[in-house]
Amino acid sequence: MRWECMTSTELKQAVRKTKGVCVIAMGVIEKHSEHLALGTDYLNGHKICRLAAEKEPAVVFPHFYFGQIYEARCFPGTITLKPTLLLELCQAVFDEIGRNGFTKIIIHNAHGGNWHLIDFLAQASLWEEKPYNLYIQTQWLSQERQKIWKSLLETSVHGHACECETSITLANDPTLVKMRKVPVKGTKALGRLNHLKPFFSGISWYSDFPDHYAGDARKANLEKGQKLMNLMVDNLADFIKAVKNDKTAMKLNKEFFKKVRDLNMKKK
Ligand SMILES: [Zn+2]
Repeated sequence: MRWECMTSTELKQAVRKTKGVCVIAMGVIEKHSEHLALGTDYLNGHKICRLAAEKEPAVVFPHFYFGQIYEARCFPGTITLKPTLLLELCQAVFDEIGRNGFTKIIIHNAHGGNWHLIDFLAQASLWEEKPYNLYIQTQWLSQERQKIWKSLLETSVHGHACECETSITLANDPTLVKMRKVPVKGTKALGRLNHLKPFFSGISWYSDFPDHYAGDARKANLEKGQKLMNLMVDNLADFIKAVKNDKTAMKLNKEFFKKVRDLNMKKK
């Protein structure tokens, strides 16, 4: 059920039919080596959400492509927003989903660098009580599916515009892939900041992958992409089902905010 493809009345009915579950794919617009399109993440993420929602009904929010991608600001085509604006934008979008009656919002992360943002958005949801809960699946695949995933791959380094991402993009829409532009050599982390390990900073990703390419896409193909994508779709469909049946997270949130209110009352 795609939000933007329904009528107003249908959307209202969909809230009931899905038990109030809306899924939003959070991708970004960024360079993907020389062979994948700038919109790869949000386009693939949205497709995975749509296919999962066909298996386990949920409303899928329209394309959303603002996220944490400051590490690609040095490349043409990247779109970034001021950090404080980005946080407010994401929260405002969740509020709008909630205002339309959805009580459970699943964030499907479609870009690795978004974990920094999404984890914080989840924690920040305890700042103020909302009529909805945020649900984030912290791994794309269960352990069982991870094993199958690994058995399908022929290269060892993965991360960005690699064998997996390129294959999945071929399965989503081959017009987004230019196989003849795949670099003649794969990449692995340069480790230019290894002397500081264990270490993290904003420049960490750039220090390892200055061309915004991590892996080797030469082994990518459409058939593999379909299998990889199916694993992600099945995993997300399982998660939608679990969220739909969940009553505990909602209850604990209510309990938590009652305590917050009681504490404030005592202070007065
Ligand atoms: Zn990507």
